[in-house]
Amino acid sequence: MIAHVQTKTEIRAALDSLGIRPQRRFGQHFLIDGNLMRRLADCAEIGERDTILEVGGGTGGLTDLLAARAAKVIVAEIDHALAGLLRDRFADRQHVCLIEADALAGKNRIAPAVIDAVIELAAAPPDRTALVANLPYAVATPLLMNLLHELPVVERFCFTIQRDVAERIQAAPGTKAYGPLSVTLQTLTDIHRVARVSPSAFWPPPTVESSMLRIDVRHDVLPGPEPIARFVAFVREAFLHRRKMLKHTLSRILDERAFAAAADLLDLTRRPEDLPPPEWLDLARRTVLTD
Ligand code: SAH
Repeated sequence: MIAHVQTKTEIRAALDSLGIRPQRRFGQHFLIDGNLMRRLADCAEIGERDTILEVGGGTGGLTDLLAARAAKVIVAEIDHALAGLLRDRFADRQHVCLIEADALAGKNRIAPAVIDAVIELAAAPPDRTALVANLPYAVATPLLMNLLHELPVVERFCFTIQRDVAERIQAAPGTKAYGPLSVTLQTLTDIHRVARVSPSAFWPPPTVESSMLRIDVRHDVLPGPEPIARFVAFVREAFLHRRKMLKHTLSRILDERAFAAAADLLDLTRRPEDLPPPEWLDLARRTVLTD
């Protein structure tokens, strides 16, 4: 079944009929480029028994494409009016589950309603559960970081994101963009850039360029959500002073024994921004992941 991708005129008409306009505070830039929309769904390689989580359903253009391919689609939408529109649009499709909510509960947690819905509906292996979304910009970083340990069943993320976040994800050590997001994702996942996306692919166009990425979680790095959560928290904390020597930050966040182990492993006059991902993993294994 070929799903129809909404045009700018159709999206505008849908919003007009509700008497609303795109809201910048919710990052409402709707994808109107049909080829890119299909590429996003294609790169997720959705199987007919898969479960897909979409964060930010908007007017349902992408949701429609996902619903045509997946066994189940869970779509979170924060905007009350758009959630109403989605509810109407997908009322006759039982396999689309709408959650009207902020996908994040605070800065560092996924909303419980989203977690519960995904766990309840998640595809059982060998089928897959994936995130596919045009991510609202403010949500992207905390969502990706937290999905890794709060919803480990989600093992593939395909999304568009503003280009500077994509660059942070793929940044090399020693560059300005290199930080906790780069270390965490480069350690725990395989990252591919699928496409560059220009502002004209969206309505209304954002001021910045975007990128489309596909990220596959690796299962061979850390054993389970608890160590992943500890690794994410450790890297985040250790990066608070990215240009200070590691010994300053580590002496505050590690106990004496762990600090001694760190000093044994590394020259602690080095700085967080210069440590490549494999060295972060070694450091965490010797200090905060010892039991
Ligand atoms: N998927 C649509 C819309 C993308 S725009 C498309 O491809 O065109 C981003 C959407 O995310 C908007 O509908 C916005 O209201 C929604 N959104 C923004 N912040 C959110 C949050 N914290 N939780 C859930 N949805 C959010």
